Amino acid sequence: MVDFVLMDNVVKYSSCQIAIIGTGIVGIATAYYLAKHHKVTDIVLIDRSQPMSFTSAQSGENYRNWWPHPTMVAFTNRSIDLLEDIANKSDNLINMNRRGYSLVTRNTNIDEIVKQLHLGLGDSADDLIRYHTSGASPQYHPPVDPDWESAPSGVDILKHQDLIRRTFPSYAQDIQTVIHIRRGGDISGQQLGAHMLETLRETELIRITGSVEGIEQSNGFHISIKGADGLQRIQAEKIINAAGPFAGNIAKMLDVDLPIYNTFQQKIAFEDHAKAIPRDMPFSIDLDGQNIDWADDDRALLLKEPKLRWLAKAMPGSIHCRPDGGDKGKWVKLGWAYNEAPATATWEPPLDDYFPDIVLRGAARLNPKLKDYYGQLPRTMHHYGGWYSMTDENWPLIGPMGPEGAFMNCAQSGFGTMAACASGELCAAWVAGAQLPSYSHAFSLARKDDAALMQTLRESARGVL
Ligand SMILES: Cc1cc2nc3c(=O)[nH]c(=O)nc-3n(C[C@H](O)[C@H](O)[C@H](O)COP(=O)(O)OP(=O)(O)OC[C@H]3O[C@@H](n4cnc5c(N)ncnc54)[C@H](O)[C@@H]3O)c2cc1C
Repeated sequence: MVDFVLMDNVVKYSSCQIAIIGTGIVGIATAYYLAKHHKVTDIVLIDRSQPMSFTSAQSGENYRNWWPHPTMVAFTNRSIDLLEDIANKSDNLINMNRRGYSLVTRNTNIDEIVKQLHLGLGDSADDLIRYHTSGASPQYHPPVDPDWESAPSGVDILKHQDLIRRTFPSYAQDIQTVIHIRRGGDISGQQLGAHMLETLRETELIRITGSVEGIEQSNGFHISIKGADGLQRIQAEKIINAAGPFAGNIAKMLDVDLPIYNTFQQKIAFEDHAKAIPRDMPFSIDLDGQNIDWADDDRALLLKEPKLRWLAKAMPGSIHCRPDGGDKGKWVKLGWAYNEAPATATWEPPLDDYFPDIVLRGAARLNPKLKDYYGQLPRTMHHYGGWYSMTDENWPLIGPMGPEGAFMNCAQSGFGTMAACASGELCAAWVAGAQLPSYSHAFSLARKDDAALMQTLRESARGVL
């Protein structure tokens, strides 16, 4: 039970069984599965700000089970199973939909991608991958309906331009191949977090708003929290580090050096009054690298400026675009996670003023009608961003953090929304000392000692969003 004292109308709790630092989707999901699967509710959730207000508020909210490694496929499949369970039981409060991920290229030779699909899907790959090589393919189900329950599974590979043009009329005419991952779509991450917190409201869980300034370990953990009413200390038998981009700082308070770093990523969203993007277009990723479509004089100016020259040169692929707000909505979202430079995380987002123009011109290569917005993006355009907190191999870190009783659920990179349920479930099982799923070892710090696995992961991490 939570032991607390009341002072000046401020509830001060002095001890608890488990303290979770971070009330983003990862911390919330961990508390949710501790309560749901292990009946552990003597939990204090600590955050310097409101729940779901930092990285989790910046998420593109997309999900998919496409990964070049079977462990990540199993992990995200489990997370999607759990999301479906929540969608089912809540009358789809989380707005889950499923039009898949459409990976698009101008290449006809896609051997490398097919190899990655086989690596991820293992023995079931031959059953799950379907090729469509003619203009009319009755076996292919176009993504007309957003309903997740009736959507097919597996992967459709479209290799005929007539079929591609008919299904995806907004795409550029030079597209040769579409790899359509079917178990993918988007959810409302905010609704997911709110639903989990609402469920926890019926328990004794406590939320504290304040910044964790220090942690000492002696007979449990003593956490110093700076809040609006000054400094308070709570004692916890166990702690869980779910501090997102600041997980490294929290670990350092216990002299643990986590192998994680942060990169800043941006997106824009705007009202698509020109109807450039069909409402039934799946989340679409242009796999091909490109030179951005600058006007000749702009390109010449960029080339003259040492700090901006890179923008006039070859850019990587993986620019992405999708309609936002459902079939009746009008907004679109564009993103391009090209920034690989590690940086110290800041609370204020270091937005780059050039980004909206960069991502718009990049995205117009796949959806040429976006050119209507060159030089005239709507004033209401929303430009935002957040930190991908990640490991070199781009897998999360979930499990014991080192000191007895200290756990972590972090390094969720660009997949923390889709993976939140499986991450929360896994971390809760570690903390409760319950039976662990097969992938638990691979997501713990112990994987760092497995040289062969680490080498495979570093190679497969490249090129994945
Ligand atoms: C631009 C962008 C697009 C993305 N798109 C997708 C997507 O399409 N699909 C997907 O699955 N994922 C996506 N992600 C990734 C996903 O958003 C993150 O992985 C996820 O939100 C991480 O959640 P978190 O709870 O770990 O971190 P956060 O949401 O950052 O939560 C951590 C919390 O810890 C708190 N905290 C930190 N330090 C302290 C301290 N000292 N004291 C008190 N509180 C502290 C912070 O205030 C914060 O609220 C995207 C991320 C970005 C940046």
